[in-house]
Amino acid sequence: MSFKLKIGLLLALAILVSAAIPTLTIYRLYQLEYELAIKTKRNVDNFIAINSIKSSFIQYDNHINRYLLTRNPNWWREAKAVKSNIYNYYKMLDSKPKEKSEFQDVLKEIREKQGQYFKRVSRLIKRNNRNWDQLTRIYNTNVVTVHNSINTLITSKANAIRKSNIDLLKQQEDLMNFAIIAEMMFLPIMIFVAVIIYKSSVQPINSITKTVKGVRADEPESLKQMVTELDLLAKKRQPQDEIGHLLRTLRHLGKEVEEKTLELNELIITDEKTQLFNYRHFKEQLITEFARARRFSESLSLIMIDIDKFKHYNDTNGHLLGDEVLIKVAKLLKQECRETDIPARFGGEEFAALLPRTDSLEAFQVAERIRHSIQDSVFPNQEKQPGGNLTASLGVATFPIDADDAEALINAADSALYEAKDKGRNQVIAFLNLQS
Ligand code: GH3
Ligand code: MG
Ligand code: MG
Repeated sequence: MSFKLKIGLLLALAILVSAAIPTLTIYRLYQLEYELAIKTKRNVDNFIAINSIKSSFIQYDNHINRYLLTRNPNWWREAKAVKSNIYNYYKMLDSKPKEKSEFQDVLKEIREKQGQYFKRVSRLIKRNNRNWDQLTRIYNTNVVTVHNSINTLITSKANAIRKSNIDLLKQQEDLMNFAIIAEMMFLPIMIFVAVIIYKSSVQPINSITKTVKGVRADEPESLKQMVTELDLLAKKRQPQDEIGHLLRTLRHLGKEVEEKTLELNELIITDEKTQLFNYRHFKEQLITEFARARRFSESLSLIMIDIDKFKHYNDTNGHLLGDEVLIKVAKLLKQECRETDIPARFGGEEFAALLPRTDSLEAFQVAERIRHSIQDSVFPNQEKQPGGNLTASLGVATFPIDADDAEALINAADSALYEAKDKGRNQVIAFLNLQS
């Protein structure tokens, strides 16, 4: 999975979780409010209807009593009007969603008893009976129980309204608890998300920075180590991963710099024309090898080589052919040297070979081999040289017998070379022999 996609998913998860808690809480609050509104409205409506039935019933009795006393038909009409009101309230109660069966049972009982009462009163009035005792008996048997039942219902409705308030408080408390628990869960989820982001981005970037920081311009080995470490880190990443991509790019870059550095180092120490070591590198090696020879009490020999009558060769054949000779002599010199020897172009048509752990006699033999090899090689137009051949003169000097430091060793080899020139060229002179 790509790093961008991973971060995107984690952020989406964080937003989803953080948004879900308030959304759920608000939704639940809205639900609670709605439930309470419906419940309260039904309870209050029923409460009002039952109270109205009760007061109308009392009114009905008043009108009946007045009618019996005054015989004014208006009171009987009023009583009937009140009765139809009571039936309207029953209708209203019927139209509401059904309450619990207990409520319905009591209501049914009230309704029946009221109905019986109305019938008996109607019958009494139709018979034109003024029997107060009978009316009182009817009243006592029917009305008192009806009133009791109505009071019971009113009390139960009042209790129901109180109870729904308590329910609401309880549910609000539950909701608060839910929100707190959800928040407590949210925190570890966010920490988890943060850890994943840290592990998949900050940590690898830190290790890349640390690896790259370890590179030193003057330590080629550190570049090599960086490439190896980046390679290891890249192997742990997935192909589409951006950090993996960065690692591979850096590693590629490091590898290229490493190769270019090697090339550059080669160039710095190599003589362009002859591909031998140049004078600068030769001087460095001379100092290093001298120190080592001194520390381990070993011999160190130096051979100086100068092509004979090379000015003449150039003048006769031109500089281009002269260059060919320099290249060929360099090749011969390299061939005659051992792996541990250091052949170099000293300057112009002069060459040098540094021979570590080599005494004077051994060095003399190597120098003779070089001289022979040049003498026996065929160079273009060599017959035009004085003596009919292209040759070289060589001087040999050895530490510790001929010189005590690097400069003295060069001077000694140079002196021997001059002696070889003086003695007629195409020969090797050891500084040791020169002194004797
Ligand atoms: P000797 O035997 O005494 O050494 O005589 P020589 O002529 O070799 O000595 P000299 O120092 O008089 O001449 C050296 C010549 O080497 C002069 C110069 O033109 C030539 N030379 C030096 N560097 C180069 C080079 O890179 N290419 C060519 N073609 N010639 C070079
Ligand atoms: Mg010379
Ligand atoms: Mg010369």
